[in-house]
Amino acid sequence: GAALEVRGLTKVYGAAGLFRRRRATRALDGVSVTLKRGATLGVVGESGSGKSTLARCVVGLLAPDGGEILVDGAPLPRARAEAAKLVQMVFQDPYASLNPRRRAGEQVAQGPVAAGVPRADAAARARELFELVGLDPAAVSRFPHEFSGGQRQRIGIARALAMRPKVLVADEPVSALDVSVQAQVLELLRDLRARLGLSTLFITHDLRVAAQVCDEVAVMKDGAVVEAGPVASVFADP
Ligand code: ADP
Ligand code: ADP
Repeated sequence: GAALEVRGLTKVYGAAGLFRRRRATRALDGVSVTLKRGATLGVVGESGSGKSTLARCVVGLLAPDGGEILVDGAPLPRARAEAAKLVQMVFQDPYASLNPRRRAGEQVAQGPVAAGVPRADAAARARELFELVGLDPAAVSRFPHEFSGGQRQRIGIARALAMRPKVLVADEPVSALDVSVQAQVLELLRDLRARLGLSTLFITHDLRVAAQVCDEVAVMKDGAVVEAGPVASVFADP
């Protein structure tokens, strides 16, 4: 079965609202993609093609106007807290996505605590996850500014994994990093996939990055999937 099935997803920005000024933008126009269990599906396409909108719908940050999102065959819950247990996001900017005033380990434990995991268990899980993503478990007590950009992205990954999600959505997870650091984070994602059997929807504008980590890719253009299939066949096109 599929970890994630998106069927006919539609999202229109600015379609309603009393004070609407801009014309409506059809950001998603009947998008369907299937992420197999344990696989990494790339969503590629130029800026403005709808990739982030798709990502934000799949993690439940944005309500689509039409279509279906199924996780392990069941509809994605509308309640954010319930959706968060199933789908977690790794953001592009590891600087912006962490709270500068809270200890790194606390931020990794935050989701599980909110979901009812006892504090001590969540803290222990945070330390294990630090180790899993290649950080010193003792660094849980440090603040975000005490880590490098690549290390901060590892914290972001640990924070997402802490919820033991069925699906990970990585939205341009290496685009804000130096090229040398990009390779290390991509290597980590490959390693985690092998060890945990992660199912990942990997959003990127960078075809070189997609070719390194994805089995299959869906190419988006103007809110629609215009091509999809195994990386080798899609990227072989002239
Ligand atoms: P991508 O991630 O591929 O760059 P987006 O999903 O961000 O694409 O954008 C798809 C389209 O939706 C673009 O035309 C963009 O300008 C528009 N858009 C994105 N976010 C908003 C928003 N909050 N309000 C209005 N239009 C938006
Ligand atoms: P190993 O047998 O290789 O040590 P484990 O399955 O014990 O692997 O996992 C190692 C760490 O990853 C543990 O801290 C565990 O809690 C955590 N872990 C395992 N599966 C997941 C998952 N799907 N999401 C998040 N964390 C996980």
